[in-house]
Amino acid sequence: MTKVTDLLKNANKTLFSFEILPPMKGESIKSIFGAIEPLMEFNPPFIDVTYHREEYVYKIRENNLLEKRTIRKRPGTVGICAAIMNRFKVDAVPHIICGGFSKEETENALIDLNFLGIENVLVLRGDPIKSEGAFVAEPDGHRYACHLLEQVVNMNKGIYLEEEMRNSIATDFCIGVAGYPEKHFEAPSMRFDLQKLKQKVEMGADYVVTQMFFDNQKFFDYVNKCREEGINVPIIPGLKPITTKKQLTVLPRTFFIDLPDDLVDAIDRCKTDAEVKQVGIEWCIQQSKELMKFGVPVLHYYTMSKSDIVKKIAEALF
Ligand code: FAD
Repeated sequence: MTKVTDLLKNANKTLFSFEILPPMKGESIKSIFGAIEPLMEFNPPFIDVTYHREEYVYKIRENNLLEKRTIRKRPGTVGICAAIMNRFKVDAVPHIICGGFSKEETENALIDLNFLGIENVLVLRGDPIKSEGAFVAEPDGHRYACHLLEQVVNMNKGIYLEEEMRNSIATDFCIGVAGYPEKHFEAPSMRFDLQKLKQKVEMGADYVVTQMFFDNQKFFDYVNKCREEGINVPIIPGLKPITTKKQLTVLPRTFFIDLPDDLVDAIDRCKTDAEVKQVGIEWCIQQSKELMKFGVPVLHYYTMSKSDIVKKIAEALF
């Protein structure tokens, strides 16, 4: 299959791509196929599949003692990627995260990906789980995305965890990382965050995908600052259309982003869900058009596995 960076290099116009979530545990992969199919006419060169780590739940037992149980609500990222590539003949990009993984488990997951012919990974730290508040690495896991990145880069050089493993095959992963036009919420300053991004790029990250944003100026400023810092890899904007009024408060709280006044006012004036969706679609189309003019290599949409809204946006653009 093809590396994301090669797909970008060979493109002569802005490409369309999107991200999907694995289905909830117990649901069929058909829901994913059903979400992807309507978007295939826009020729996505790659599709991202998110990774969702375990959560802890506490169950009250008969003796009134609490039992701590681990659940993973959306397993299957690796299998879904293989199934997507097999069915749609398109590259799938699994997200791999530090949280919940030991280095050895990560190595084994990367070996599986390599066997499956998956050559792209988006390397992330992962968010803290709800019950913990702040991110806690596994005792033998990675603390920051740069450490996980180092492990992937090492495997690309044939260096595995076991020192005695000589003459091991080198993998050939193309590596994406996350960037935050409005700063990652834990970073003390934008400069600090950019320096950490630069570190990831110097260590071997091939491209950056951004957190969602609703004000293009923030993205333009971010790209300029990245370039000033010497971060010269492709920067792919991540876009999400607003679909409900509730998202006016949920998105800033969840993703630590600001919404522009014009967008907030327009959504606030809506009387029905259908009106909100229409405003969200129009805003996203305008954002996309401006970003295309700016010359972004790809427009990457967060679909939340619902394709109808993103399809309407893609129809206006691609
Ligand atoms: P890092 O690069 O490790 O940065 C985390 C914080 O630590 C930042 O504030 C950074 O400035 C700081 N930092 C970085 N390196 C160092 C260092 N060496 N020393 C001190 N400070 C440092 N989460 C999921 O769980 N699953 C997904 O599938 C997923 N997909 C995503 C896709 C995209 C495009 C984006 C933007 C985010 C995604 N996330 C996902 C969320 C992501 O995991 C969180 O935002 C997480 O909190 C940070 O991940 P990161 O890779 O940016 O971390």
